[in-house]
Amino acid sequence: MKLQIAQINDRKTTYINGEVSVDDAVAYFESYAGYICESPLSYKLELRRKAKGIALEASVCAHLSANCQRCLTLKSFEVNTQCSLLLVSQDLAPKSEEYGLSADDLDTVYYEGDVIDIDALVLETVLLELDSRVVCDEECRGLCSQCGHNLNLGTCGCKGF
Ligand SMILES: [Zn+2]
Ligand SMILES: [Zn+2]
Repeated sequence: MKLQIAQINDRKTTYINGEVSVDDAVAYFESYAGYICESPLSYKLELRRKAKGIALEASVCAHLSANCQRCLTLKSFEVNTQCSLLLVSQDLAPKSEEYGLSADDLDTVYYEGDVIDIDALVLETVLLELDSRVVCDEECRGLCSQCGHNLNLGTCGCKGF
C-alpha cells in the first residue's frame, strides 16, 4: 500500500494492518537467492508523528521457501521481524556533507512528496533477515558429487563415502 501522510493521526498512534500480495513479494524476492514467497506478507504498523518526522514501528511476518544450496531440497520457513524507522521528508534530508549529523537511535528513511511506499519498506525489512546462503540445515551433507544422491538420506556407495 501507499500511505498518505495525511492519514497519520496528529496526536494519537495510527495503527495499520495490511498485506503485501504474493505477486508483489515474489517479484521482489526472486532475484535474491531464489527465494519464493508462499503466502501474502502480513504486517502491523504503528505510526506516531514526531518533531523530526514519523516514527514507524513495523512487525512483519512472511512465509518463504528456497532451495538448499547443498542438497537442493526446497525448504520452507517463516520470517518474523520487527523494525523501527524514522520517516523523514526528502526535503529535510541532510546534504551529503552533513551526513551523520542527524544522530538518532532509529534508522532514518526519506520519502518523497507526501506518500510513503509501505510495501517497499516491508519487503526491505524482510529482505534484511534473509540469508543469501540457504541451507536446509547447518549439518546438511549435500549431494554426492559423483551420482547426485542426497547424502542426508544415507550413503550412496560411491567411492569415498
Ligand atoms: Zn540441504
Ligand atoms: Zn554417489
